[in-house]
Amino acid sequence: MERWETVGERIARACAAAGRDPGGVEILAAVKTQSPEHIAELLDCGARLIGQNRAQELIAIDPALRALRPTVPFATHFIGYLQSNKVGRVVDLVSCVQSVDRLGLATRLSRAAADRSKVLEVFVQVNASGESTKAGVSPDDALELAREVAALPSLRLRGLMTIGANSLDPAEVAAGFETMRELSRAVVGSGIPGTSDANELSMGMSRDLEMALTHGATMVRLGTDIFGPRSTA
Ligand SMILES: *Cc1c(COP(=O)(O)O)cnc(C)c1O
Repeated sequence: MERWETVGERIARACAAAGRDPGGVEILAAVKTQSPEHIAELLDCGARLIGQNRAQELIAIDPALRALRPTVPFATHFIGYLQSNKVGRVVDLVSCVQSVDRLGLATRLSRAAADRSKVLEVFVQVNASGESTKAGVSPDDALELAREVAALPSLRLRGLMTIGANSLDPAEVAAGFETMRELSRAVVGSGIPGTSDANELSMGMSRDLEMALTHGATMVRLGTDIFGPRSTA
């Protein structure tokens, strides 16, 4: 998988241009539509963090992937819209849910994690671009949701997540990422219990990775760049 290497080089270049240490950037492989065999090959290349945005698909492929690589210590994050009735199954399979955009979901996740005697990591998803098709809490409500999430007993808030604006105008994409950076600073500096180390910023996909790194992303979520174009969306 030479694409995995190319991605690493692309991130290193973008970090150099932004005066950042590439060691401060984690790569999450967005694996939607990929077969367990294909994902296992990526683990062989050194990937250790995968992201699944469909509960159905996560539940379907997780056992096969673990059977293929039983000793590889990889982590799975959930990064898509999560229906309430899938919360238990998803909490069984992931260490982190990045798509927490409402208190009701956070409360269910905390309860499910408590039932399993685990602490679940979470990100608050923010709709920084304001596009009506996008999930996420509005920037105006993000700090309040972060406060509520951080107070739940079985969740650990790691930071904020967003999907960049679907725009050909770089200024518009940049503005959304800059909003995220400011929100992140506000959360970390808020003095709210459980937020002082919630400094992660999950943003940047194949189309806007460099821009996200310029604006402080600590985790980029890449699908197309790693696996090539998906045949089905
Ligand atoms: C698919 C997906 C990605 C990766 O998208 P690419 O454009 O293929 O890099 C990132 N984040 C989320 C939430 C996704 O669903």
